[in-house]
Amino acid sequence: MAGERMNLLGLPRAQLEAFVAQSLNATPFRARQLMKWIYRRGAADFSAMSDLAREFRAQLREVAEITVPQIVTEQVSSDGTRKWMLRMDQVQGIETVYIPEPDRGTLCISSQVGCAMDCTFCATAQQGFNRNLSVAEIVGQVWLAQRELAGSRSADSDGRAITNIVFMGMGEPLANYRNVVPAMRIFMDDLGYDLSRRRVTLSTSGLVPQIYKLAEECNVALAVSLHAPNDELRNELVPINRKHPIDELLAACWHYIERQNGRSVTFEYVMLDGVNDKAEHARQLVRLLKGHPAKVNLIPFNVFPGTRYRRSPAAAIARFRDILNDHAVIATTRKTRGDDIDAACGQLAGKVTDRTLVRLGAKLGHEARTTVET
Ligand code: SAH
Repeated sequence: MAGERMNLLGLPRAQLEAFVAQSLNATPFRARQLMKWIYRRGAADFSAMSDLAREFRAQLREVAEITVPQIVTEQVSSDGTRKWMLRMDQVQGIETVYIPEPDRGTLCISSQVGCAMDCTFCATAQQGFNRNLSVAEIVGQVWLAQRELAGSRSADSDGRAITNIVFMGMGEPLANYRNVVPAMRIFMDDLGYDLSRRRVTLSTSGLVPQIYKLAEECNVALAVSLHAPNDELRNELVPINRKHPIDELLAACWHYIERQNGRSVTFEYVMLDGVNDKAEHARQLVRLLKGHPAKVNLIPFNVFPGTRYRRSPAAAIARFRDILNDHAVIATTRKTRGDDIDAACGQLAGKVTDRTLVRLGAKLGHEARTTVET
């Protein structure tokens, strides 16, 4: 039965080495060969692995498999942004988005089906939390995107199209720490996707204990969804703040940068008309961040059905950004991309409310996605 076989996709190198030793009586060298086939060459079929002995391949088929998520739909924007809806099992779907830019290709991946954080401006919150994704399901998003992009204009001469990976799709990655960290290790392993630690970004709503844990265990770029410059407002927008208020969150961030010898934390700040976009909010933000290793990324709010919020006018966003920059807090605004396909952070999950993939495919909407602009 297939269920008894070990899915090799996403197995960290040490575990893969242990597996080939125990189940196949093979050396660590075989594990390294397998990793090259799976991640570099995108193989999902042992019979294609031509430098492995025929007999070894037959043994592999008995005990192992490479199971990847299935694509339900793909949409390509006129600006090249692509969105895949992936089937995780009979009823669950998640979305993965690829954003090509002249100097990089960013893959935005999901860590959970749904989310339990309940941020008021995010559509994912509306569907509630369904389940964590496994390591294979997280790594599988990259595997699939890489396969789909290999022959495209976005790919370099080695067929590589993904230069950056960000956990900014569905879910709270630090609430799925157990699976997200091994997945990030595969992204950075030189036999995996071989990305530098600055090109893998974990975005969190602010799970303080897990930020400290991450500081000890895994070195990646950190983005934090701040969205408000005081506890009163943040308690409302990002309810986890009631448990881990701003001063504790920022202390964890500065500790993370120091421990990791990192450059800076990126603070995401969604621009909600009349809610958190006033000059006074910008000045409060300056007081919080000035002199610290921080960058602010302003995200024009992406509307979704049923939301009570509106996007701040462009002039308000520009004014807010200027106040920060004038006070030596580096701030940029995310540029809207792919607005002819539905692909926005905070909107992706709204489609899963019905929990049926048939409807998922049929209900594709027209919201905008935003992406980082420097
Ligand atoms: N759970 C992670 C990843 C969320 S998605 C986190 O909270 O950081 C990535 C970013 O998009 C987060 O900063 C999130 O707050 C923001 N976001 C959510 N809904 C949004 C919306 N409707 N418009 C704009 N940004 C949104």
